[in-house]
Amino acid sequence: MNGVSPAACQTLPRLWLVSEHMVQFKNIEDFGTICGKRVLVRADLNVPMANGIVTDDTRIRSVAPTILHLMKKGAQVFVMSHFGRPGGKVVPEMSLEQLAQPLANVIKKAVVFVADCSDEAITEILEALEEEAVLLMENLRFQEGETNNDPNFVKFIAKKADFYVNEAFSCSHRAHASTEGIAHLLPSAAGLSLEKELTALENALGNPHRPVCAVVGGAKVSSKLDVLTNLVEKVDHLIIGGGMANTFLSAQGVDVGASLCEHDLADTARNILKKATEQNCTIHLPTDLIVAKEFKAGADCRTVGHGEVAADEMILDVGPASIEGLADMLASCKTLIWNGPMGAFEISPFDAATVALAKIAASLTACGSLISVAGGGDTVAALNHAGVADQFTHISTAGGAFLEWMEGKELPGVKVLEK
Ligand code: AMP
Repeated sequence: MNGVSPAACQTLPRLWLVSEHMVQFKNIEDFGTICGKRVLVRADLNVPMANGIVTDDTRIRSVAPTILHLMKKGAQVFVMSHFGRPGGKVVPEMSLEQLAQPLANVIKKAVVFVADCSDEAITEILEALEEEAVLLMENLRFQEGETNNDPNFVKFIAKKADFYVNEAFSCSHRAHASTEGIAHLLPSAAGLSLEKELTALENALGNPHRPVCAVVGGAKVSSKLDVLTNLVEKVDHLIIGGGMANTFLSAQGVDVGASLCEHDLADTARNILKKATEQNCTIHLPTDLIVAKEFKAGADCRTVGHGEVAADEMILDVGPASIEGLADMLASCKTLIWNGPMGAFEISPFDAATVALAKIAASLTACGSLISVAGGGDTVAALNHAGVADQFTHISTAGGAFLEWMEGKELPGVKVLEK
């Protein structure tokens, strides 16, 4: 099942309404005139690299519109970021110098790398500049003060500029000097990408069109306990898939054979189910299951119901009948939030349920009846694998920050930008 009938498409306004109840964030326009002013942009240039080559420049591309927008307004842009985990020490292999050319390639402007970030060195560089150029500062995490949010380090970086822009949602769950501390010292704003991300998240969970459905899959209940507990309070439907569904099935007395299952969390799972009932949240667990004796590509597998899993079999995916049933329910929803695959999607045929559900969500989004927001590393990989990532309303590549947002936690780097 991968299609949605036109009748299921009750058209929703494609442009989201920004309701007056929504949390509002400071944006670049709030700065007023910035011509001739210095603006520090916190980017996340912690991109994957192999042999000195950037293998995925998504994060560089996401900060580019903000840099170009600020330059167009006549500002001198400084870009700052971390790279890797140097632990407060200078680690030459983690220098941001290696990102200067990749950044220049994307923004098509000169980028000058600043190894010495002292005020004197920066003044000298700016005086010597012959063309419009972005200044890229050295790896923030070469200094201990960055992750400690040390007031002296905060002052040191804040002194470089007149304004501060956060474009690093993926780092905003940490109260670091460059994500939180600095926003107390300089007029601050969310960059264009961050603003888009925050609006998408607010629309999905803060103040959503209802009914709202959440999909939580992946390996373990223990890693997503806070997510599940928060979601049952906020959403109308919760689909539990992946390995974590086994823990819930087992807690209800279903024999899950040799499946991945956290038997010690049976009480926790039952409490979540109880809480869901109290909160009028309908939990959807798989009714049919794909089982196999081996976890390898093309392994022999069969579709079974509850009570039919043999002792030496593992549940590795949700069955087709369950997905069929979910299609009807999803067609009645207006908002979808998704984190975690339905099965062990990296290996075929155990990717079938994730791909089928992703296609259903994409069709409903395409016909305007669903706002779909997904996030997390594995989830983005799974939606890419299904070929529908670009059809979702919003995809967040921020792993930890997206999960903390789904847990209902306040993200310090975001909180500080609230109007
Ligand atoms: P997470 O990082 O918690 O989102 O988990 C993602 C991982 O869960 C992926 O690597 C999947 O292969 C794995 N996974 C999903 N469903 C199952 C399952 N039924 N049994 C074992 N692993 C699973």
